[in-house]
Amino acid sequence: MTILYAAEADEAAQWTDSLRALDPGLDIRFWPEWGDPATVDFVVVGGRSPGDLSIFPKLKAIQSTWAGVNHLLRSPGLPQGVPIARMVDRGLTGSMTEFVVYQVLDEWRRGPELRAAQRDARWVETMPRLAKDCRVGILGLGTLGSDIAQKLAGLGFSVSGWSRSAKEPGGNIRSFGGADSLPTFLGDLHILICLLPLTAETENILDAKLFGHLPQGAVLINVGRGAQLNEADLLAALAEGRLRRAVLDVFREEPLPATHGFWRHPQITLTPHVAAITRAGTGADDILENYRRAMSGRPLLNQVDVRKGY
Ligand code: NDP
Repeated sequence: MTILYAAEADEAAQWTDSLRALDPGLDIRFWPEWGDPATVDFVVVGGRSPGDLSIFPKLKAIQSTWAGVNHLLRSPGLPQGVPIARMVDRGLTGSMTEFVVYQVLDEWRRGPELRAAQRDARWVETMPRLAKDCRVGILGLGTLGSDIAQKLAGLGFSVSGWSRSAKEPGGNIRSFGGADSLPTFLGDLHILICLLPLTAETENILDAKLFGHLPQGAVLINVGRGAQLNEADLLAALAEGRLRRAVLDVFREEPLPATHGFWRHPQITLTPHVAAITRAGTGADDILENYRRAMSGRPLLNQVDVRKGY
């Protein structure tokens, strides 16, 4: 009964130490030294496409250390019918919520303008804006989006969320479900946050058509995936004032090439895909639980619906 670690090599020690702290008897091997392929039961994969997993004839489950599995679902050699679990980790969720709350507060309290004023030694007094006057919308009211919605609502922001199916999030959070409700959801927002998984349906969703439904001067925070953003449409929306600013943590090409125009764009705040990262210390529990479930033929925690793509 073998776990094959095929995720990021520089994180291998953290993951294996955390897993062995929970169960010292685990047989963990490292890509590409798996020995007899027929002994590999469970593979842990990370943020890059793994190698050909179809060579393991008795593979019972694939566990991602990442919440988003778009790269995994597109990787060649992905065996058909083997269940896949994505990562849900309280460390990752907390980190994402803190990042987004910090960006929303920075924006609403005019952080970019205040920093620019300090650079020019300009004393600019403005009335501080209150959270209750800010309408924030979240594309994707799943594990991460829901936690952000609750925390922002707790601070007094007026929060709404959009997902495939309408939810009952409580706490004064408005929920919109399905494509037909998207224009209404977008229509009165000051700040739009994207936390959708990347699928065929959400690729390029952040485009001129969507921006056209937002009020003039809205702010975009994209922490979903880079391929959800049409870059040319973003630049046009920023130039014409449809969007006032964009905070981008994810990009079509990562690392973002040094020559890319986003780096120096005055209306773009850019972070290098660091909004949230899974922590082995908190993520290992669910991996071990899924390993045990896979070995006993039970459904996995956080199993990916391959047809939906998330
Ligand atoms: P979940 O699967 O829990 O939630 C996804 C949400 O998106 C659900 O509410 C789902 O709707 C909604 N959704 C999916 N497709 C559509 C669609 N076509 N139309 C409308 N709504 C849709 O995922 P998580 O919250 O855990 O993660 C979301 C994404 O965040 C990840 O896939 C990843 O890309 C990104 N991420 C980014 C990180 C970063 O550091 N920048 C770190 C971690 C994740 P429904 O509930 O109705 O199914």
